[in-house]
Amino acid sequence: MAERLKAGIVGATGMVGQRFVSLLADHPWFQVVTVAASERSAGRSYAEAVGGRWSMPGVVPPAIGSLVVKNASKIEEVAGSVDLIFCAVDMPKEETRALEESYARAETPVVSNNSAHRWTLDVPMLLPEVNPDHLHIIPLQRRRLGVRRGFITVKPNCSIQSYVPALHPLRAYGVEKVFVCTYQAISGAGKTFKDWPEMVDNVIPYIGGEEEKSEREPLKVWGSVENDGIMNASAPSITSQCIRVPVSDGHMAAVFVSFASKPPKEKILELWKTFQGRPQALGLPSAPRQFLQYFTEENRPQARLDRDAGGCTDGQTGGGARAAGMGITIGRLREDKLLDYKFVCLSHNTIRGAAGGAVLTAELLKAEGYLSAK
Ligand code: NAP
Repeated sequence: MAERLKAGIVGATGMVGQRFVSLLADHPWFQVVTVAASERSAGRSYAEAVGGRWSMPGVVPPAIGSLVVKNASKIEEVAGSVDLIFCAVDMPKEETRALEESYARAETPVVSNNSAHRWTLDVPMLLPEVNPDHLHIIPLQRRRLGVRRGFITVKPNCSIQSYVPALHPLRAYGVEKVFVCTYQAISGAGKTFKDWPEMVDNVIPYIGGEEEKSEREPLKVWGSVENDGIMNASAPSITSQCIRVPVSDGHMAAVFVSFASKPPKEKILELWKTFQGRPQALGLPSAPRQFLQYFTEENRPQARLDRDAGGCTDGQTGGGARAAGMGITIGRLREDKLLDYKFVCLSHNTIRGAAGGAVLTAELLKAEGYLSAK
């Protein structure tokens, strides 16, 4: 195995942090050498600090379990030990923004799951299959920060990560209006049924801030890189309702869409089947070979059956076991009486929608020459 880049996970004890630990435990390009969290966890071994909160399949990977958790606010100590950090913290937005910028100024690239920098003009909000060209804004950001190798990239909100990929290949037909209703898993709130028993046998029709993110963030993702930053796309108009449902993992979206020029149904199915993004072209380790998978069965996709789509060990249809949970599944495409079409789609919120998407982003950054050993 070629020498791996040294990675740190900031917010390692949380729901997304744990997912990073499990995805990076045997990654071919990145080796986790540092874990950091709040001062509550600092000084204890990772296994001890995460304790009964460990929610991933299997046990805590031993090599990471024995690392001593660092205090995330000790920037020099954390940054000094790594080539890049993955960041997923539950902190006030201003504090998160300052924390991430401090790491970038300490010449440490930050691949973030937090929302704090999503609207910073020169910070790319990346969905690697959809807008890999937004990486070209990084030199502008580095000039603003006065750094040589540090920068910040962010992921979009988990709620948009099934319907933006599904709509993306159809944009040539002029996607004009989108009505979307999301049905979001409880891990999206950093919870399990054990620590959120009120969610058993329940549906909550409100997720704070989620509808605004679901309607606005796609416009930055589909925006263009200009001299001063990333300028939002002007279409489509999106309206949304975001609902919490009693599912452990997997966000589903029911989508209604209209086009400037309505494509035939067969064309949509063909575009989904043949879509390949930059991660597929580069053969990145976490890229699912088939990014968008359409089901002809009327009762699919289902959260429990299909959230781990993308991984495959037969070498034919998937990108290897590492890509499990990185695929987007789609079903029930049909004509609509009010708009042109409707369909449903599903993504794994803590894999594709959070840690896995960030790992794929880091792979893209490395393949495109933005990450190297210090
Ligand atoms: P979580 O389970 O509540 O974990 C929060 C993490 O932040 C813990 O590691 C915690 O450390 C750490 N933390 C809290 N206060 C801190 C401080 N003052 N300094 C340093 N670290 C601190 O939250 P989560 O669900 O993993 O979400 C983390 C971030 O990812 C959030 O910004 C969230 O919006 C985003 N996100 C989540 C999802 C998802 O599906 N869950 C998807 C996309 C994005 P301690 O254990 O020491 O308290």
